[in-house]
Amino acid sequence: MIIVTKRGVTQDELDHIRERVESLGLRTYVSQGEHRTVVGCVGDEGRLAGVPLLSIPGVDTVHAVMRPYKLASRDFAADPTRIPLGNAQIGGPEIMVIAGPCSVEGREMLENTAKTIQALGARALRGGAFKPRTSPYSFRGLGKEGLEILAEVRAETGMPIVTEVMDTRQVELVASYADMLQIGARNMQNYNLLMEVGRLRRPVLLKRGMSATVEDLLLAAEYVMSQGNPNVVLCERGIRTFGTATRNTFDLAAIPVLKKETHLPVLADPSHAGGRRDLVAPLSYAAIAAGADGLMIEVHPEPETATSDGDQSLDFQEFASLMDTLRPFVAAAGRTLPG
Ligand code: PEP
Ligand code: MN
Repeated sequence: MIIVTKRGVTQDELDHIRERVESLGLRTYVSQGEHRTVVGCVGDEGRLAGVPLLSIPGVDTVHAVMRPYKLASRDFAADPTRIPLGNAQIGGPEIMVIAGPCSVEGREMLENTAKTIQALGARALRGGAFKPRTSPYSFRGLGKEGLEILAEVRAETGMPIVTEVMDTRQVELVASYADMLQIGARNMQNYNLLMEVGRLRRPVLLKRGMSATVEDLLLAAEYVMSQGNPNVVLCERGIRTFGTATRNTFDLAAIPVLKKETHLPVLADPSHAGGRRDLVAPLSYAAIAAGADGLMIEVHPEPETATSDGDQSLDFQEFASLMDTLRPFVAAAGRTLPG
């Protein structure tokens, strides 16, 4: 931790800053610059967590040298973590494609979708049974029936299923069906929910909140991991900015930043990021080129009749074309795609 003092800090103030920090068991080192005096604090920085250092007279700014996340950080595990899902792994050489409808709407549409995407190289099936909708009047999912349909289609195809859990009270139910639990953007900072899924060992797909920084996302992952569940996969799905041309602003740079900061796998969701089907392919290419470990893509047999997110859902033909045109980008990134 580095404390930068205000211009014209007095010797008394400087002594007081040092006493406060040293009383917490850290050592201090003072560096006298031409304009500013800086106090370096060495020792267990955790002891300074929660101490309102900025309120000490003479303190201007405080800079953490250590990352606030630990288990999620590259310092904790230098090699990329691989997370098993079905017969595949997320974070290995193979690009993981998770695809399926925004919402589970019925058995037939889900089964058709699953069989089609599976034949084209997707390794896992997504579909929301509990849907977080901005309006309470929108379709909010089939609930338990949706989970049952997902499980039936898994039995039929062997594909692992990824579905969202919205509330701590649903964790047990959703976990009794899902192979991977999705925490949606709107819940990324629902700390009770993060801790609840942290008590399981089931893989968690943690989507970035729309107003969350990269650090917020990594600290949310830390919540899950700190409860004992190391199987966290991060997902960049676009953030809110002043831009209105796309549903969200795809933060492409967050992908290589995350890959540098954490050993956890990173997926991209170009469907929610762009909000338009014509943007799904270019954003997917960019994500793979930027180092993403996989993609989550919304696919619907008939997007124009979808109960949610039809505008950004690919039909089967568009998904086939995406998987085909993705290949050179996957190869250029030194990765593989099944099929
Ligand atoms: C979804 O995956 O359908 C979804 C609701 O995503 P997000 O939480 O990123 O909006
Ligand atoms: Mn959706």
